[in-house]
Formats: sequence, C-alpha cells, structure tokens
Amino acid sequence: MQVERVGVVGAGQMGNGIAHVLALAEYDVLMTDISADALTAAMALIDKNMTRQVSKGAISEAQKATALGRIKTTQTLSDLGQTDLVIEAATERETIKQAIFEDLLPHLKPTTILTSNTSSISITRLASRTDRPEKFMGFHFMNPVPVMQLVELIRGIATDDETFNACYAVVERIGKTAATAEDFPAFIVNRILMPMINEAIYTLYEGVGSVRSIDTSLKLGANHPMGPLELA
Ligand code: NAD
Repeated sequence: MQVERVGVVGAGQMGNGIAHVLALAEYDVLMTDISADALTAAMALIDKNMTRQVSKGAISEAQKATALGRIKTTQTLSDLGQTDLVIEAATERETIKQAIFEDLLPHLKPTTILTSNTSSISITRLASRTDRPEKFMGFHFMNPVPVMQLVELIRGIATDDETFNACYAVVERIGKTAATAEDFPAFIVNRILMPMINEAIYTLYEGVGSVRSIDTSLKLGANHPMGPLELA
C-alpha cells in the first residue's frame, strides 16, 4: 500500500518533529491538535528548525518552502479521514489515545493505517479498541525527531505484513533507520536507557561521583555522546 497523505495527531514536541521530517520527504501532512496555540507554535518551530537546516546546508531554501507548504493544520480530527496513514503523537495517556482513535474511526478510509508514537502503552491493547487491529502498529520516533536516526517499529499481535511493510517504507523514505521491537513496556530504547539514567541519579545521590564525574565517565569510558545526567 502506497502512503502519500499522513495525518499527525498532536502537535507537541514529537508531533511537530514528525510533521517536519514527513514534509521534507514529500508527504502531504495534515497535523491536528485540540489546541490552536499548539498548532501555531508547532508551525513556528518547524519553520525555525528548517531554517537552521538551511543555514547548515542540509536542505535548500526551496526544499524548506516546499516542505512547509505540504503541512496543513486543523483542529478537526475528522479532517484526517482521507489520509493513508495516521501517526498519533498526543499526550501519553491511554484514555486520551483511545478516545482519539474512537473519534477518528468513523471518518477513515478502510485502508488507512493507524499508528501510535507511544513510548510505553501496549500497541496490541490500543489496536484492540479499533476496527482494524491488523492495520495498527507502533511507530516510535526518538526526540528530537529531525535529528535522531532511529524509529522503533512495533507490531501488535494482529499487525499484518502489508501494514508493517508500508510503515517500514515510510521510515526508509524519511531517511531514517527502523529497528523492530516486540510489544513489551518501553520497547527497546527506553527499556535500556531509563534504568541507566535512574542508576546515574542514584550514583549522584549516594555520592559516588559528581555530576561532572558521572557524565564524563560515561562519555569517555563508555563512548556515549552525552552523559546520562545531561541526557536526563
Ligand atoms: P507533548 O505534551 O509535547 O504534546 C502532546 C500534544 O498532544 C499537545 O500539543 C496536546 O495539546 C495534544 N493533545 C492532547 N490531547 C489531544 C487530543 N485529544 N487530540 C489532539 N491532540 C491532543 O507530548 P510529546 O512529548 O510530543 O509526546 C507525544 C507522544 O510521543 C507521547 O505518546 C509520548 O510518550 C511519545 N514520545 C515522546 C518522546 C519525547 O521525548 N517527548 C519520545 C518518543 C515518544
């Protein structure tokens, strides 16, 4: 299935970054949020972040202008009805995400793929509340989206191959790398990262080392680009 029109639900930290990278890959993007202010702020931030990419020579002025023109915003969820793929990136609360999918379903084409950018909620459970669990999966971007190379793709118990392959193709087209994870809490990256950050905080709390020592140790001793406390 060919994806060309993508709906992004939630225009916060992740949603604006997701719209940004999709538009640069020449997808038509429709971004929605319950907050008009969030949509205005998201468009301003995308403009600013693309301007930075232009100044670094990563993209041209023309690419920026074309990409910005591909992003439309709406506060009406049902406007996403004609999209081929929806990436939900709203607030991390299961009841909010369930309500979004329930409100969206009556307006969608039968072929529309639904995905969630959730960091920790079960994909299978979210999928089971929809009319298309086989067309539902996790599409987990990293923060900040325009910079980070990885996307975790998470199949629910019913996700079919066509859906997985369509999402995989989107990851390739936006120039990122997909890693597949099973539907376990926190998937792969956060499952490993969060205990490390937590341990760094305990290491500081117990007086084993200063903030500087802890971060320098992991940067120079384990070749991490940032120390765990800086990252936190
Ligand atoms: P955020 O708070 O920055 O943005 C959430 C947006 O969702 C807000 O603008 C809010 O107005 C909007 N929203 C809330 N209810 C809505 C509704 N019913 N309809 C439409 N929009 C609604 O949050 P975020 O950090 O962008 O996180 C979004 C999702 O991405 C969460 O599931 C989070 O777990 C996940 N995530 C976050 C990060 C991160 O580092 N921030 C990384 C990976 C994944």
